[in-house]
Amino acid sequence: MPELPEVETVARDLRPRIVGATITGARCSWARTLRTHTPEDFVGSVAGRRIEAVGRRAKQLVVELSGDAALTIHLKMTGQLFVVPQEAPEDPYVRLVLELADGREIRFRDIRKFGRVGLYGRDPVTGELVTEVGGVAVFADTGPEPLDPAFTVRAFRRRLRRRKGRLKPLMLDQSFLAGVGNIYADEALWAARLHPLRTAATLRPLDERRLYEAIRSILSEAIERRGSSIDDYTAPDGDGSMQERLQVYQRTGEPCPRCGRPIKRIVIGARSTHFCSWCQRLSQADRKTAMSILRTQTGGDVRRAPTERGRTERTKRAAATRRAAARGSAGADP
Ligand SMILES: [Zn+2]
Repeated sequence: MPELPEVETVARDLRPRIVGATITGARCSWARTLRTHTPEDFVGSVAGRRIEAVGRRAKQLVVELSGDAALTIHLKMTGQLFVVPQEAPEDPYVRLVLELADGREIRFRDIRKFGRVGLYGRDPVTGELVTEVGGVAVFADTGPEPLDPAFTVRAFRRRLRRRKGRLKPLMLDQSFLAGVGNIYADEALWAARLHPLRTAATLRPLDERRLYEAIRSILSEAIERRGSSIDDYTAPDGDGSMQERLQVYQRTGEPCPRCGRPIKRIVIGARSTHFCSWCQRLSQADRKTAMSILRTQTGGDVRRAPTERGRTERTKRAAATRRAAARGSAGADP
């Protein structure tokens, strides 16, 4: 699933294409794509609005519209956005189309249909995006942006010290930190030399700082490299290259770039977790409780490696095919 750097890349690619355009209509072929409206109501609410800005909050795109409204677009597993002339052929995976006054269309293509688009108004007092019914702030439960200048190491420490959980699930928790997902959580923990099963409570001030710096530098590098093109992720200006720079994610059995020992894979909270058990040691305090999780899993690591490599290759090939199909049928080739 696209994480902060991937969604940021999509936002940056879309911005010069669509800011200033006016939406004249919409077509929706899968009603559940719309989080807040029926397809009929959506058309009525979105038509006539001008696109004023394109931003991102956590893993969602935020398209600012005239009249104090905004669209939120969550790409989820397979969502892709294309801006194409209206006469470009449309493939069956396009779930939502925003028609623009200049004859182009923004197409939301989503093979697995988990992606969601919401249309919200802004609270005149707080300026926050709110639901129409009840006025609940859409991002009320979303944690701070890790690359926000206001997010200092002190702010990170304060949040960490309020939490008791293990580091991997904590980093995936969007109410703790916005935008980090499976790829960059594994990478940041490896860079900071912290075991994914370590608990936040056992971190020393230096560990906290290393983790803070690792998260920020990896996310920044990933944005520079236009994100990791794994699975279905692609952006309007093309794929990213961060996947080539990942040190542990989906590299089970390959040598750790730091110490040469094989990268291990365990499952924590139903998510694959990749790490080096030599460079990322468990503290004595955490070892005992983590053993029950590790004992059931580590035996299979090395044997699982070729399977995972095979799966990764298949994923890459499938994604390449889907991207080619998307560009061909959506006419989005530059
Ligand atoms: Zn290592």
